Amino acid sequence: MLPNGSSHATRLTVFNSAVKMNIVQQSRESVMRSHASSQLTVNGRPVAVHAMLCGSVTVKRSHAVCCVPERTPAQLRFLTILADRKFADPMPIWCYAIDHPEGLFVVDAGASPSYNDPTSWEPDARTGAVIRSFIKLDVADGQTLPDQLHRAGLRPDSVRAIVLTHQHIDHTGTVPAFPAADVWTTRAEDAAANRIGALHWRWRDAATTIRYVDAEGNHANPVAAVDLTSDGTLTAIHTPGHTPGSVTVRLRTDQGDVWFTGDTSFTASGMDPAAPTAGIHSDMRQVRLLQTRLQNAGLLLPSHDPTVPDRLEAAFR
Ligand SMILES: [Zn+2]
Repeated sequence: MLPNGSSHATRLTVFNSAVKMNIVQQSRESVMRSHASSQLTVNGRPVAVHAMLCGSVTVKRSHAVCCVPERTPAQLRFLTILADRKFADPMPIWCYAIDHPEGLFVVDAGASPSYNDPTSWEPDARTGAVIRSFIKLDVADGQTLPDQLHRAGLRPDSVRAIVLTHQHIDHTGTVPAFPAADVWTTRAEDAAANRIGALHWRWRDAATTIRYVDAEGNHANPVAAVDLTSDGTLTAIHTPGHTPGSVTVRLRTDQGDVWFTGDTSFTASGMDPAAPTAGIHSDMRQVRLLQTRLQNAGLLLPSHDPTVPDRLEAAFR
């Protein structure tokens, strides 16, 4: 709405810049490819890594980038986010598929279009209103993880396991579409669910088989890790930081290591321990430690990084 009395010329300028912004926005979105893949090998056998775009997430600026000293307690940082009126630019939501000689594995389940359906929140409308006030999800028709698996030539019903890097709503949305898959998370993440808004009732049902990295894994140095394949090339590791129960997935290929790092940083450039990082992390110190450990560790694939398609396809060439 323009103020009363503004001239026709002013209105036209405002209109033109709005159109221009729209075009910039559209071209930004059209540049983002919805699928990329890389053909690698494990012990000489082919393995394919697929990145699939499963919508976008928009958070507050102070959620995307910490705007207070990093030593500020997590609860205070969270209040800062709730109080922030400005949103950052939308970020892509990536899910990953690893087509391994021992089966099809998926990292994260993306968002569900039901997030934007108010009736789907009826069991707890208040929680829905609070969460939707600071996290916006956009999942177009045909953009959910099962759709994108189909598009990549992969069968959703053959997914052997889904590893959740954590239980936030942009990572768990389509779990019920995979009743035959093992769903790996951590007890630590379950225990923190109330504090981090991981809403079990929205993504688990009676058919969901949950397995826990920190219960079944080998505890060494002092983290728990589970081998997802018998050849030891695909591992889920409990890496607290973004949330208390966050998990990082490592794929060891003959060409180098691929790390699926969830939200330890939203972007690859943010994996630099000296770069600005998100304001939402539950434990900043652990996040910085993990980022330091992953420096030069191989190809890092975060969940919300716009450079994923280009970097995945260029890696190990
Ligand atoms: Zn996320």
